[in-house]
Amino acid sequence: MNKLEILGKYFGCDSFRSGQETLIDGILSGKDVLGILPTGGGKSLCYQLPALMLDGVTAVISPLISLMTDQRDTLSERGINAVCLNSAASLDDNAAAERALISGRAKIVYLSPERLENPRMLSVFSKIRLSLLAVDEAHCISQWGHDFRPAYLKIAEFAENLPKRPIIAAFTATATPAVRRDIFERLRLNDPVTVINSFARDNLFFEVKRQPNDAEKLLDTAGFLRRMGADKGSSGIIYCSSRERTETVSRSLSGMGFSCLPYHAGMSAEERQYSQNAFLSGQCPVIAATNAFGMGINKPDVRFVLHYNMPASPEAYYQEAGRAGRDGKSAVCRLLYSDSDSFIIRALIDETELDGETAAFVKNVRLKQLSAMENILRSGNCLQNEILRYFGENSSKRCGRCSVCDGRTQLRDCTVEAQKILSCVKRMGERFGISDTIAVLRGINSRFITENGFDRLSTYGIMSDSSDKEIREITLELIKQGYLKQSEDRSLHFTESTPNVLYARTRFLVRLPIQSSTAEQFTPADAVKELLSPPVQYDERLFARLKAVRDKVSSVCGLPAYAVMPDNALGEISSVKPTTADDLLKIKGVSPEHFRRCGERLLAEICAYIKEIS
Ligand code: ADP
Ligand code: MG
Ligand code: ZN
Repeated sequence: MNKLEILGKYFGCDSFRSGQETLIDGILSGKDVLGILPTGGGKSLCYQLPALMLDGVTAVISPLISLMTDQRDTLSERGINAVCLNSAASLDDNAAAERALISGRAKIVYLSPERLENPRMLSVFSKIRLSLLAVDEAHCISQWGHDFRPAYLKIAEFAENLPKRPIIAAFTATATPAVRRDIFERLRLNDPVTVINSFARDNLFFEVKRQPNDAEKLLDTAGFLRRMGADKGSSGIIYCSSRERTETVSRSLSGMGFSCLPYHAGMSAEERQYSQNAFLSGQCPVIAATNAFGMGINKPDVRFVLHYNMPASPEAYYQEAGRAGRDGKSAVCRLLYSDSDSFIIRALIDETELDGETAAFVKNVRLKQLSAMENILRSGNCLQNEILRYFGENSSKRCGRCSVCDGRTQLRDCTVEAQKILSCVKRMGERFGISDTIAVLRGINSRFITENGFDRLSTYGIMSDSSDKEIREITLELIKQGYLKQSEDRSLHFTESTPNVLYARTRFLVRLPIQSSTAEQFTPADAVKELLSPPVQYDERLFARLKAVRDKVSSVCGLPAYAVMPDNALGEISSVKPTTADDLLKIKGVSPEHFRRCGERLLAEICAYIKEIS
């Protein structure tokens, strides 16, 4: 049988997925391979199919017993005889497995990396011909990865001590460039055929939201589950950072009428099995779990993954979030975080007891991963791009689907506008507030203007093409970035950094909501992006608070959030900070209907916020 026939007969697939054939051909031609394919990309097939075509046996190193037995069972359903050697099986079972291997009845053996250190293994493997050694979850070999397993370091030596070194094939879903290098060097791969597929998952929608505390998180979660149709049977995983929280979350959600079960390593094996089966069968659509859940879980129709806490690393985040939408249909990955999440993770890293010289190294890696995770959440840039960048993929095209892209903000060079505003402030004698300055810039004809002789200023009317709102936003940004300050009587004044913008020593960059008419002019070139540190956006703190107000209204009156007040309108509100009903209604996207639903509450929140920061 050729590989396509085997693909159909044993695996029930009619074509290869991206990268699979290259890797399989590599192995069949006797070469080492390195396959970096996203979760759900079909890595198992890359070694299982050649295993059936090669003479001799294929050994698969796998980090988790549940993963091994799962795969063995799936294979045997397909009529392929595979065995496992692991510490959880009885001596008899392991002996039977060894006999199956030696007699040639089993083509594939799954084993843990620790098993290789067992002296028995060398003698077993000296009696059979090992043609392929597949290393699954190969990132475990790197201390830079997120689940380093020292035993992985022994694999290369084991392979080289066999009568004939087998082909080595390494696979992982999450490998930063540093991890990739470690895999290559520590497995001593020999000029491997390498496939690195893009990690971009076009069917996943990433959402990130800061929620101050557990009560808000729970409300948010309930709203989200409803939006995702979890009450109508659509499936999802809620990842929590602690065992207790999986229990409280699933209890609270059950109280709210959702069907949800907990899963964590502290439960008994039967309880865990029960939760897992209920989830896999769809009988219980939602599972609240720690990170102990998921490896080897192959449920294709997971419609959402909700992170109830910030994950400790981008690796963990992307792997867990990646369990959504394996069937290729749209799925949402929402992440809720609060400031205490980072704090708790830091404390855990500090407390981990590790021995020897690697301890400091490992702690350092974990801290780096944590801050990478924080940076992804707070960069204000496209979430998908930030994640991909972390994994060494450069993409400047915004995904257009994540919560940042959807906030429809874009970076804009407003240096020229800023210069006009600043010189107008100067020419008006640094004695007036924002509205008066705008009136002069727009060339308004009023008594105030003529009485002060402002219509004779060179800046009179130089921004007559811009809207009131636009000039206001840029002026507020100038204040926020410290190029203007406002005194008690609200009059505008220069600061010591004003000349930098006025004389174009620095570019003045603003992240503004996209206005359709001017959308084409925005050019967030990478060079410009790098100038931007920290990233500027609309007032994120106020934005988060306004969203919380909006979401509360939405959950109370049972209307979807966007019907109460759309996100992009909230973004503009947070930047413009209107304090009157009139001003609020001037904002694009705010209809009288929206105003009726939550206008007063938003105004109250804005006023409270302004008081706090001024
Ligand atoms: P990974 O280990 O890369 O996360 P798996 O090997 O577990 O992914 O495969 C994920 C799913 O994709 C499995 O259900 C598998 O049967 C399916 N799959 C793999 N290759 C193909 C293919 N060529 N065509 C269709 N389905 C495939
Ligand atoms: Mg896998
Ligand atoms: Zn995006």
